[in-house]
Amino acid sequence: MTNHTCYVCKKTFTNAIYWYDSLHDTKHDKRIIRPFCGPPCANKYREISDENNYPSRKPFPNGPEWQIIQDINYIDYDSD
Ligand SMILES: [Zn+2]
Repeated sequence: MTNHTCYVCKKTFTNAIYWYDSLHDTKHDKRIIRPFCGPPCANKYREISDENNYPSRKPFPNGPEWQIIQDINYIDYDSD
């Protein structure tokens, strides 16, 4: 199982349920996953980030980098 580092509090954890995925908005031109250790950090991220100010990415781009991700616990991903 992948070890994640919470984007907000920097805690290391496994079994991620919440994450940001750059598939959904046009801020990033590459795929970025930002895991959150739980609801408090996921909520805090919504407050501190400006991602919602960017238009949605529709239609979704093609290519292996942009496949729908339903579970980040068993994949390698890029974060920042
Ligand atoms: Zn956290």
